[in-house]
Amino acid sequence: MGFSKWVSLVIALHLFIPEFSNSEGVLSQIEGGQIPVYFLDYAKKPELVDYMVSIRRKIHENPELGFEEFETSKLIRAELDHLGIHYKYPVAVTGVVGYIGNGGPPFVAIRADMDALAIEEALEWEHKSKVHGKMHACGHDAHVAMLLGAAKLLQEHRHDLKGTVVLIFQPAEEGGGGARKMVEAGVLDKVDAIFGIHVPARYHIGTVASRYGSLLAGKGFFEAVINGKGGHAAIPQHTIDPILAASNVIISLQHLVSREADPLDSQLVTVAKFEGGGTFNVIPDSVAIGGTFRAFSKEGFVLLKQRIEEVVVKQAGVQRCNATVSFHPNGSPFYPPTVNDRGLHEHFLDVAADMLGTQNVKEAQPVMGAEDFSFLAEAIPGHFCFLGMKNETQGPLASSHSPFYKLNEEVLPYGAALHASLATRYLLKSKLESKSTSQAFHEEL
Ligand SMILES: [Zn+2]
Ligand SMILES: [Zn+2]
Repeated sequence: MGFSKWVSLVIALHLFIPEFSNSEGVLSQIEGGQIPVYFLDYAKKPELVDYMVSIRRKIHENPELGFEEFETSKLIRAELDHLGIHYKYPVAVTGVVGYIGNGGPPFVAIRADMDALAIEEALEWEHKSKVHGKMHACGHDAHVAMLLGAAKLLQEHRHDLKGTVVLIFQPAEEGGGGARKMVEAGVLDKVDAIFGIHVPARYHIGTVASRYGSLLAGKGFFEAVINGKGGHAAIPQHTIDPILAASNVIISLQHLVSREADPLDSQLVTVAKFEGGGTFNVIPDSVAIGGTFRAFSKEGFVLLKQRIEEVVVKQAGVQRCNATVSFHPNGSPFYPPTVNDRGLHEHFLDVAADMLGTQNVKEAQPVMGAEDFSFLAEAIPGHFCFLGMKNETQGPLASSHSPFYKLNEEVLPYGAALHASLATRYLLKSKLESKSTSQAFHEEL
């Protein structure tokens, strides 16, 4: 190696080493308000962006359905091993829970979901899904990459953390209720607060949106089998027609929200499945219908469930059919509404405004979509937000759950920095609050 090469090597090492060794203690030297911008700049460094993009693409190529995320979970554990982050596994089949910081209280959790959908990817690109009939069409591949990016940021600044950050990689968000199983496994037992981020297509890159209180609806699925008596389509008098009965059932179900629910309490019933008959001249023995119902209030949800069952059974009876209704097809649990804690929402507003500017922090409208983050936010104070990724210069983005779903990878550093900032600042704030409380207590004594 020539002298000039030695010199460039020494310069390169000099540039490289201080960045990582100095990072220990950096957060203590800057104002809390500057942490989000510091993390965002850090997350936008090419090496961190490349790291997250490559993880996201690997997961995108190999999508796995709920409770089957074995390879995704393996990849996460390999990365945590590499970063020197201690973790628990398995939790709820494929879940992983990592810990960064001093190992003591307070504990704050940040969460990603790992599962894909049973959709065939229709978009042609270099890292298209390699698994027939499965696709990451809800951005959960990006959620994992962002949480690992945050893990890297936090681990490099672990000596500055005023407590412990808990990384939650959960299985089966899409219907399986993986979050509920994580709660049952006790992952939140000592945790004081939890934050979750989703990447929808409808907000611009560099913006976030959320709201205090109910953000997403409670969700249930139902399935009904309506039994009649099949026979020749031209001799209906010898049959009991379940197609007609099912049609009337569907019409009657549509009257539940319009005629029985409080117009100011948003609710929804959708029949999305109708299976019956296979040819033109045969009346089938039975018809299966199914769908989903949503509500924000517990009372509204419970009443809808009860009325769906009554309407299906009684309306089918009008046409002399018998009907049975079930509410947990494939074992999927009801999801409660996702409700954001007031204090955590204020914390989110502060952190997001410090990172992106107040004008880029939007008030989200509640949506009838559902999230199993609700189980986490039901167990302890929680906060869920949307992180924008729309960039008009790249054309419109298809909505989530579309076979044409496309993720704007520019969102990854924003997600990593937001996760890391929400957690770091939460610990800092808790520390300051406990200090002032103990001081006040002291003064009172
Ligand atoms: Zn989804
Ligand atoms: Zn999702």
